[in-house]
Amino acid sequence: MKTIGIIGAMREEITPLLDFFKEYNEIQIGGNIFYVTTYKNYNIVIAYSKIGKIHASLTCSTMGLHFNADYIIFTGVAGGLSNDLKVGDIVLASSLCQYDVDISAFGHPLGFIPESKLYIDTDSNLNEIAKRAANKQNIELKYGIIASGDSFISDKDKKQWIIDNFKACAVEMEGASIAVVSSLLNIPFCIIRAISDSADDNADVSFDEFLEDSAKKSASFIISILDEME
Ligand code: SAH
Repeated sequence: MKTIGIIGAMREEITPLLDFFKEYNEIQIGGNIFYVTTYKNYNIVIAYSKIGKIHASLTCSTMGLHFNADYIIFTGVAGGLSNDLKVGDIVLASSLCQYDVDISAFGHPLGFIPESKLYIDTDSNLNEIAKRAANKQNIELKYGIIASGDSFISDKDKKQWIIDNFKACAVEMEGASIAVVSSLLNIPFCIIRAISDSADDNADVSFDEFLEDSAKKSASFIISILDEME
């Protein structure tokens, strides 16, 4: 049986999934609780990492190296950067980058780390499955670059800086670490994010208001993806 690892950053992002699956075993590793269950022909392992790239890296590594996940799916919320994104819209990441990496003093492009890549692509097969699931439900998916970094972006100048330098359509704090770890471990992965705010001067208020709803939207879309998998 294949194993799907589903990761959120915050408890609110996985609660709707735990409510859906209802029964699971709990395994504690590295400060995370991994909720283990089955669905269709899959083992499902769900965890929230805590916020930020480092936490998400540990959780994703544990999914791969301890639970032998065959697929990794991230569910959560993000700040919208594109003007056409509004609260509640769902983004499927085409690729991920770390906007807060800067070794440009040595002539490297912003976001680039030697022996790695500036943009790490998500898995095309999982993305096709996500697109099919969206079509069936008349969900208009936004497909684009997501930029990650260890800051909550709530400032229009910082927002514009990320757009200008990375061409990203959404910003969050974990996606790129899932991309780095999954790609190095050769695990196909995809990143789903529902918009909670617009990363502008009102982002904190918007986030608090819409976290729960947007987290639910992302999580229920994850179930649609699982239903679309063979
Ligand atoms: N209110 C929380 C902190 C949330 S940090 C607390 O006090 O504990 C924001 C979380 O949502 C991160 O996990 C990040 O991935 C995502 N996110 C949503 N909007 C974001 C934005 N504008 N900038 C960066 N991350 C954002």
